[in-house]
Amino acid sequence: MTLATIPRYDRSRVDEIGDHAVVVGASMAGLVTASVLADAFTTVTIIDRDQLPPDPDTRRGVPQAIHPHALLSAGRATIEDLLPGCTEDVISAGGVITDFSSDVHFYDEGGFLANGPTRTETISVSRPVFEHVVRERVSGIDNVDIRSNCHCADYLLDDGGTTVEGVRIRQDGKRSELRADVVVDATGRASRTPAWLENHGYTPPAVDEVQIDMAYSTTFVERPADDRRTYLCPPASPRTRGGMAAPIDGDRWIVNLQGIHDETPPTDRKGFVEYAASLPVPQLKQLLDEHRWATTDIEYYPFPSNRRYRYEALDRFPDGLLVVGDAIASFNPVYAQGMSVAALEALVLHHRLADGRDDLARRFFERVAPTVDIAWNLAVGADFGFSQTEGPKPRGTAFFNWYLGRLLRGAQTDGVLTDAFVRVLMMERPPTTLLRPGILRRVLTPRWRPGGSEQTRLPDHQQEQPSSTGGR
Ligand SMILES: Cc1cc2nc3c(=O)[nH]c(=O)nc-3n(C[C@H](O)[C@H](O)[C@H](O)COP(=O)(O)OP(=O)(O)OC[C@H]3O[C@@H](n4cnc5c(N)ncnc54)[C@H](O)[C@@H]3O)c2cc1C
Repeated sequence: MTLATIPRYDRSRVDEIGDHAVVVGASMAGLVTASVLADAFTTVTIIDRDQLPPDPDTRRGVPQAIHPHALLSAGRATIEDLLPGCTEDVISAGGVITDFSSDVHFYDEGGFLANGPTRTETISVSRPVFEHVVRERVSGIDNVDIRSNCHCADYLLDDGGTTVEGVRIRQDGKRSELRADVVVDATGRASRTPAWLENHGYTPPAVDEVQIDMAYSTTFVERPADDRRTYLCPPASPRTRGGMAAPIDGDRWIVNLQGIHDETPPTDRKGFVEYAASLPVPQLKQLLDEHRWATTDIEYYPFPSNRRYRYEALDRFPDGLLVVGDAIASFNPVYAQGMSVAALEALVLHHRLADGRDDLARRFFERVAPTVDIAWNLAVGADFGFSQTEGPKPRGTAFFNWYLGRLLRGAQTDGVLTDAFVRVLMMERPPTTLLRPGILRRVLTPRWRPGGSEQTRLPDHQQEQPSSTGGR
């Protein structure tokens, strides 16, 4: 499910259904989840083992935060509904509103996509600023308490072994317990819930792992305040190198180089520039050459695999426990889905809370799976464009990749196709909308395309040969 297919947040639908909910993890998934739990529980406590910084800053528990974190429009709209005012706060903190159709230059299948006919706005900001803004908004909710330096050591299970009744914590060297009606695991990709389930006699969820051996190197350059240019050139088979640049707070561009399947983007300045020069778009190297670097640091991050736990398929799961965010699924970061999926999951949870506490986990996992499916199939589907990608391949991947390759080549001259693609990429609409007759006709019958219309942005870069199979 996408933004278009999940009903909008409506606080009046939810009654109080319990005294206390505990959320473990105060990163993006934990924060947005706590915001919807606050409608249904007298008190919500979010705990995080990190000392949460008073100002926007990186921290140990979210090591990926120095790297680019694009927020898809579905995530932005959902977070704005859940926490009104976030967008304004981000802009006040130096974030930049970008329009995909005019500010974003997306390169794929050998060319830049043409401008789309409609605006698709999103906010471009560094992850520490965004997390800080969301944390401030959530901490401003009367019945939400956020505790730093509070490590969850274990879940508390009732004598019958069927219900989680709270968490065992370690805070400031002291051990204690927090009793709760509902505990939410928002501890990210390294979640211990699968192992915990196994240790307590439950079958752990099956895991789908799609190996991509992805790596990021990231730095920052100075940016004129009104320059919102964004370049996206993700790796696309057979090209294992990619890169992007986006405007962020502090009048900077974040410049990020990517390598998939053991391609390693360098962390020294000379190597970084040479790697940028090897991409089919010259603009990233130009940014690095023409603008002063805002730092001498180049940060590296390896990301081995897409990983998804199939909680929705479990027959038995303890009452009182939920799992959200990266702890359910983490995706190749190039597709920028994680925070938006977490927001959509919170929206799904909101609607499940409206139906009370009975059987909450089963109802939540069942309804969240279609949202995760869409993000998962888009991410791993594209990753399977590389023959080196290993793991369970979603049904229909070969056809979808063939079709999408054709659509993207068409979108280089047809802004209507760009628009259709961007709505899906942004998780606003489901991928099936790409098969609607009006789109299908433009994809399969090039004479329907307006080649060379005023919507067309002519690429001023070195051309790359589209792959003959249409594989991405
Ligand atoms: C390199 C990279 C780039 C990315 N780029 C994007 C992007 O462009 N757009 C996007 O939407 N997403 C992106 N993501 C994904 C995004 O970072 C996550 O989806 C997002 O942070 C939500 O994750 P989460 O809240 O589930 O977990 P995390 O962000 O991993 O946070 C887990 C939290 O749990 C806490 N914690 C862990 N264990 C315990 C414990 N025992 N007790 C108490 N606290 C605990 C940690 O301190 C941390 O705060 C990227 C990821 C990576 C790796």
